[in-house]
Amino acid sequence: MIELPIRDPCDLCVAGREERWKIIDESEHALTVINPWQFEVGQCCVITRRHVATLLDLSDQECGAIMASAKRVAEALVKTYRPLGILTFQNNGVFSGQETPHFHFHVVPRQKGSDWGVGPPQLATFDGAGRKRGASHDPSGDAQRRERVQVSARQLAETAGLIRSNLPE
Ligand SMILES: [Zn+2]
Repeated sequence: MIELPIRDPCDLCVAGREERWKIIDESEHALTVINPWQFEVGQCCVITRRHVATLLDLSDQECGAIMASAKRVAEALVKTYRPLGILTFQNNGVFSGQETPHFHFHVVPRQKGSDWGVGPPQLATFDGAGRKRGASHDPSGDAQRRERVQVSARQLAETAGLIRSNLPE
């Protein structure tokens, strides 16, 4: 059974509803939002408009919308940052490193000199996966590591705006 993380209220629902400045792109079924943790500058997530938890909950329409949005923002990231690569990843359940119970598909521009290895940054850096069943995530042990990748709301808004300006027509 896939064990879901607990986060109440859901930060991604809040972003879609009340923090419009975080939104880079939107369509009928998907939103692209800036990631609060910038392991790489420009790191963002494509999320469903609906509050659903995992890949297994998506409709066929949502599956298509997520990938179309991921491609659009990848094009914008290439134009904005000239990265060496674009990493995409998506976690389903706490044992895969999922931290928010709302479907999100990570899109990350990879640059030379980043220090978290080849795979998804959260998995390389955090003890996110494999925590106690049914327990909500306790971020206290992450403080030092989080500090390194945390940026101000103003910086996030600027980054989101820059990527937005480079979206394809
Ligand atoms: Zn949600």
